[in-house]
This record gives sequence, structure tokens and C-alpha cells, in this order.
Amino acid sequence: MTRGITPRQPARTGRHEGIRRGKPGNLALRMARTGESARPHKDRATKARKPRSKAYNPTAPERVQEILKRLDSIYPDVTCALQHNSAWELLVATILSAQSTDVRVNMVTPELFRKYPTVQDFAALQPEQLQPDVRSTGFFRNKSKSVIGAAKKIVSDFGGQVPDQMDQILTLPGVARKTANVVLGTWFGKAEGVVVDTHVHRVSRRLELTRNDDPKRIEQDLMKIIPPTKWTLFSHQIIWHGRKLCIARRPKCVDCPLENICHAAGKTWSTVEIHKGAR
Ligand code: SF4
Repeated sequence: MTRGITPRQPARTGRHEGIRRGKPGNLALRMARTGESARPHKDRATKARKPRSKAYNPTAPERVQEILKRLDSIYPDVTCALQHNSAWELLVATILSAQSTDVRVNMVTPELFRKYPTVQDFAALQPEQLQPDVRSTGFFRNKSKSVIGAAKKIVSDFGGQVPDQMDQILTLPGVARKTANVVLGTWFGKAEGVVVDTHVHRVSRRLELTRNDDPKRIEQDLMKIIPPTKWTLFSHQIIWHGRKLCIARRPKCVDCPLENICHAAGKTWSTVEIHKGAR
């Protein structure tokens, strides 16, 4: 043996012999007999691959349509629960309803509008005079300031009439998009957006119609997937649904007609899989 050259030793694992793939010659023989090609058969390759599952899209038009259809059948004629006889009364009631309940506001407003029948009556008040009348709705100091501020502006800038344009109504003190959408949609029949109150916020997220937490963004998300003709009705339907069945603490999922298309994480009963992000 030449010096310096070490003969190659067989590996203990047998790797030096290569990977055994059946008896040599078998493949060539079979190909010759059957006329099969060496390239993998298209059908065989397709069969081997796992079929791709269709990705779940919670805002797919057909799912949104199904939700709207079911809401229509549960709440066909719902409207705003705040009692009112004019745009001004609805505006005041909506301002008072913040952080309160419609039931509570409806207990306060009849007497309030008997005492101060016109917007001019409110405009002539000092906040301290109004506070005792709205105290039970909570945050009464701010609410009194907003109501009287809005009354003064309506009298001075809009001839005593609640404006019916979004950009104008938003100039009133204490009026943000939620209040503006309630008044424009319910009284003037103008669908300028979707009302996002605490119920719409919660239920839209549970139904995965939005992943946002900010009311403005939630409204934008909903406006993208709900047809404009449905904006006002949809808001009322979801508000009613949030009050009656999809309540905050213990939603009544067992009674909910949306149950089998709802994957909310906080469900109390479910026949479908739960999505952690739906909360
Ligand atoms: S199934 Fe439950 S969580 Fe989902 S919308 Fe209905 S009440 Fe709400």
C-alpha cells in the first residue's frame, strides 16, 4: 500500500452504499412493460397534495348577507328606543343617553320637555338650572352644559332648527358622530353612517365584523361591508340584539338565531368553533 493513502473504510451505518430504493432494474423493467414515463404522474402528484381548505373570512359578503337576513327576521321594524317628538327632543335624549340607559332617559325627558318646551327655552337656561332635571342620567354637569350649548348654537346659527347636515350638526357642543348619526338617520331619514354605541361596539366585535376598538374605526369598518340603505336599520337591530340577547356579561347564545355563524370567544353555549380574536 502506498504510504499516506488510507483505504476508505465502510461506514457503520451503511451510507456508503447509497439509499436502497428497491431492487435495481425493477423500475426500468416496469416502465418498459407499461410505457410509464419516469416523470411523476400528474394525477398522482395532485392526489398526494393535501387539499387547501378555504380560508375563513368573517366579512365575506355572503356571511354579512346572512347576518343581515337573520337580523331582519328577528327585528323587522325596530327603531330608536328614545322617546321624542322632534329632532331637538331626539338630540337632547341622545346626549342624555351617554353612559345611561334609554329607560332612564325616557323617565326624565317627558317632564323635561313639559318644563322647557322649545329649544329657545333651553338656550335661555344656565347649566345649574338644568342640572337637577337631568341628574339621574349621570354626568349631569357635562350633559347640562352640552344641551344648553347646543340649544344656544341652534338658535344663533341655525334659526332654531336642528341642522340636517353632518358637517353642521357636528359643530354643536356635545354632539359627536354617534349622536349625529342617531338624529340624521332616525329623524331626518338620512343614512350618513352607522351608530356605534356600546352595543354596536360589542356585538360587531363578537360577530367579527370589525377587529377595531375605536368607535370611528368600527363605523368605517361597518360602512365598508353594510349597504348604505341598511346603515340606520342595522344600527337599531344590533342595539336591540345587544340589549335582548347579546348582553355584555352573559350573552344568551342558546336563544340566539345567529349562534351557528357566531364564533365569539365569550359565548355561553356554542355549536361551532370559538375564535379567540372575536371578543
Ligand atoms: S351567539 Fe351569543 S355571542 Fe354570538 S351574537 Fe348571539 S348572543 Fe352574541
